[in-house]
Amino acid sequence: MKQISLDQMEGIIWHNKELIANVDAKAHLLNYTLQYGYGVFEGIRFYNGKIFKLEEHIDRLIASALMINIEMPYSKQEIMKACVDVIDKQKLINGYLRPFIWLGADNWMIASQNIVNITIAGVEREGEYYSDITLKNAMSLKTSKWRKASHESLPVQSKATGLYLMNTIYKKEAIAANYDDCLLLDYRGYVAESSTSNIFFIFDNELHTPIADCFLNGITRQTIIDLAKKRNIKVVERHILPEEILQAQGVFLTGTAMEVTSVKQIDNQYFTIDELTKILANDYYNLVHDII
Ligand code: PMP
Repeated sequence: MKQISLDQMEGIIWHNKELIANVDAKAHLLNYTLQYGYGVFEGIRFYNGKIFKLEEHIDRLIASALMINIEMPYSKQEIMKACVDVIDKQKLINGYLRPFIWLGADNWMIASQNIVNITIAGVEREGEYYSDITLKNAMSLKTSKWRKASHESLPVQSKATGLYLMNTIYKKEAIAANYDDCLLLDYRGYVAESSTSNIFFIFDNELHTPIADCFLNGITRQTIIDLAKKRNIKVVERHILPEEILQAQGVFLTGTAMEVTSVKQIDNQYFTIDELTKILANDYYNLVHDII
């Protein structure tokens, strides 16, 4: 898909209670968030005009802001309504929403007082469904040399913009080595996640996933755990060592953008697509598309 530069994109954007033309959405070049990475954001999908898990995403947005001491100028209800307006006013059907909380350029000194802004963009992304589980769409992962920090070092459950410096580095290094993405271990050496998605393994027809104690406990991750439990599939959240991956029947990633995406390779080890992955990807597809 051809990427359109954001400043050339048509349509409207919600900014501090107003819907404005996207081309007019400008900020000062030295705004606080651009300089110091001090902001928070969300990535949300909508399907057939309906936002998936809107309330959960806005709860996380507000929690992310509180975790790094950003005072929210708008209520949860106002932000949720704004997300709906961005879609409705542009008649978007299937796509992606990006609420973004950022600080202005009132004062550029570190830890200074700045106006808190909320901007919400929405784009149509027709036909881009990853849950189409085929080997062609499966990803290759390279174990990163970087380790995820402990929750005592970073606010790991906050979708804070500054933390995505590392996610960018992780993914770029994997791509430079001809892989699609990275596999991250945590500071203790346990398997953690990928650059912007959580990871699941299938061992003996059970679903195993790392405990989300030093990485984002994804909304898709929680949804997949619920879907598996509904099918009476045993779910085990535990610390997983990288050497255990050798025994896995299957591996997949979860995230709002990538939905359920199977993994065909981790370093020099190859995987086929496990039946359980197909079942859960299908359940997820049906859930987001309201198919009972
Ligand atoms: N981990 C990281 C670092 C992410 O950026 C994301 C995407 N938000 C996820 C996991 C998956 O989270 P979710 O399922 O809520 O999109």
